[in-house]
Amino acid sequence: MPQGPIIDRLRIFLVESPIKMARAQGVGSVKGSVKRVLIELTTACGLTGWGEAAPWEVFTNPAEAAYATLDVYLRPIVVGHPARRLRELLAKMDRAVIGQTDAKAGIEMAVLDILGKAQGVSVADLLGGRVRDTIPLSFSIADPDFAADLARMHSMVPAGNRLFKVKTGVKPHAEDMAHLEAIRDAFGDTVDLRLDYNQALAPFAAMAVLRDVDRFRPTFIEQPVPRRHLDSMAGYAAALDTPILADESCYDAADLLEVVQRRAADAISVKLMKCGGMLRAQQMMAIADTAGLPGYGGTLWEGGIALAAGTQLIAATPGISLGCEFYMPHHVLTEDVLEQRIPHENGAVVVPEGPGLGIAVSEASVRHGARILAEA
Ligand SMILES: [Mg+2]
Repeated sequence: MPQGPIIDRLRIFLVESPIKMARAQGVGSVKGSVKRVLIELTTACGLTGWGEAAPWEVFTNPAEAAYATLDVYLRPIVVGHPARRLRELLAKMDRAVIGQTDAKAGIEMAVLDILGKAQGVSVADLLGGRVRDTIPLSFSIADPDFAADLARMHSMVPAGNRLFKVKTGVKPHAEDMAHLEAIRDAFGDTVDLRLDYNQALAPFAAMAVLRDVDRFRPTFIEQPVPRRHLDSMAGYAAALDTPILADESCYDAADLLEVVQRRAADAISVKLMKCGGMLRAQQMMAIADTAGLPGYGGTLWEGGIALAAGTQLIAATPGISLGCEFYMPHHVLTEDVLEQRIPHENGAVVVPEGPGLGIAVSEASVRHGARILAEA
């Protein structure tokens, strides 16, 4: 039995990318630039796969930790491994290092990119085949300057964008209420409004706040309270008409089992960097589907490589039906490392055609599209 392509080189790039706008998102603020790690795997037969670890230090790890994990601990496991034995590779990485889900997700996407290219099929094909060709795009209203966000909405809505997620709980409640009112006044029900508190509310006073914002008919309210307050989340899910979505409360399948058992949410945000990759995300969605919880395609600060992986995942995972927030390369990063950006059409992300992740990346496009802080 031939074992197929063997991975014989791992290269990593710690990169920093400038961003166009400040983002204030409750758990942390970002201004100026974001860091992430890009991964290039090459096989002995000359195939190349790209991956990306896009951690955020308030959510998973610092980017420097992902870089060190890849360089020191995962390199000896990955180099020499047959690309086809991916699940075995994931198990070995888990035995070698606990956590570090972003680094492991980055390796997995590079391996799947190679396997797709080797067979002439897309990663979505490897994950079961497409159930959708486009994914509705949600844009986050998170600029400290709300007027700037409202102006963005006035140009995005006519272009077909319908999904907007307001980062509430960063400013005083009265300001949030005024902003939600301004959005509904300007756009009525043509926009699908979602709210994300990023754990900002204290359980002590959250119910009154949530009942207040409920009147703006959001599609869901994401993570109103800190992640471990599952019983409080269950209370809001039971009391409110608006569904409650778990993000920080639900990193992986073990978290999800607890969310389901305690009825703490009606939906979940799936992020490759939280759960450790596409296979783990599909494992989570098997649980979520069974429990009747739809998924939403969340992000940290991913660039085009990781978002291509997210796009392939959602294309092949029916339960992730609430859209995605894959807007970074089009709206936030001033540049990206792909030779061509993944197209957005009519308020949706178009799942790229072509083998593997469906994107073109090269060392030249990486050096052109990001500032390299370290490489190994
Ligand atoms: Mg969130």
